[in-house]
Amino acid sequence: MSEQIETGITEGGRSGAFRDILAKDHARRGKPPVHFADMSPEERIERVQALGLPKFRAKQLANHYFSRLSVNPDDFTDFPASRRQDAVDAFFPVLIEPLLRQVADQGTTVKTLWKLFDGSRIESVLMRYPTRTTLCISSQVGCGMGCPFCATGKLGLTRNMSTGEILEQVRVAAKAMRDGDVAGGPGRLSNVVFMGMGEPMGNYRSVLSAIRQISSQPPEGFGISARNITVSTVGVVPGIRKLAAEGIPVRLAVSLHAPNDKLRDELVPMNRRFDTTQVLDAAHDYYLASKRRVSIEYALMRGINDQAVHARQLANRLNHYGDNWAHVNPIPLNPIEGSRWTASDPEDERIFLDILHKAGITATLRDTRGSDIDGACGQLAAKEQLSSAS
Ligand code: SF4
Repeated sequence: MSEQIETGITEGGRSGAFRDILAKDHARRGKPPVHFADMSPEERIERVQALGLPKFRAKQLANHYFSRLSVNPDDFTDFPASRRQDAVDAFFPVLIEPLLRQVADQGTTVKTLWKLFDGSRIESVLMRYPTRTTLCISSQVGCGMGCPFCATGKLGLTRNMSTGEILEQVRVAAKAMRDGDVAGGPGRLSNVVFMGMGEPMGNYRSVLSAIRQISSQPPEGFGISARNITVSTVGVVPGIRKLAAEGIPVRLAVSLHAPNDKLRDELVPMNRRFDTTQVLDAAHDYYLASKRRVSIEYALMRGINDQAVHARQLANRLNHYGDNWAHVNPIPLNPIEGSRWTASDPEDERIFLDILHKAGITATLRDTRGSDIDGACGQLAAKEQLSSAS
């Protein structure tokens, strides 16, 4: 019990249980202010009318938010001047405030640490490439899954994020791209990946609503194709199956990190609840349902999971399903300070990749953009919070 208080890692992280992952003080923190993105179309109309405005104003607000990416009352020129601020106050509370911005790769990688209404910290990373721009976003404050090699896992889970908090990361990045605030001039945010802090399946409802609003055409959403959205999970099987049933063609990424249960039990505690067979079966079914290749994320850790025997085993596990259904992304681990899990030898990485290729598996070493600015998942926020706690 005392360990739980000290580390913040919830029971879910240790036992792989799924429903009890919210930290005990979740209720005490209260909920983030309700935002336009948290409301159904009917609720938006109700609130507009409660302000004494005709219902068509709800559509204008959607246009400002999703098409123009604006929450600035000065831009609401189709609104009566005297009501612009009221509308912003009622629909667009400030949900995320930038605390720290780190830039790398000649300004094409921008990592932002955000402060939420209750003082919580989360992060997002924008990565601009020649043909696409990807935003990596957070869906929970911290993470309750307790993977021992992960900075976010060390924080435990503080709370789920609201749809508005998730979506604001996207709006701000889309606006920065459009306005030319990222090196390379004006452009378009084309891809979104749920690979920042948190386990998206642990906050399913808000994440799904965010996905729908990211992918709907303006003025219902930001108009980023669902095919360009990736949801990354540690292997929450019911979540994978539920997402497959939604029929939205988002890409699934599974953080496998180990090719067998003995090792994965140690690296990913959730494996004790849903083992590698269940996870791979669900991932393969997702592929069949969505016709989208599943990404298998695999953080290479020196001497732990990066040897030839692991690569061969991984290839066998994936080839068991017969079709070219998965794309493996071995990721050089960006180690957290003082951890016994450290990055692989480049030679071992090469051999690992080579074995997969020879076995007919599609695999590319994942780009470690921003590794010079604390690029590992959750690391920036984790570092900030761990140091402010000490
Ligand atoms: S690796 Fe992913 S699932 Fe595991 S603790 Fe970190 S953020 Fe959570």
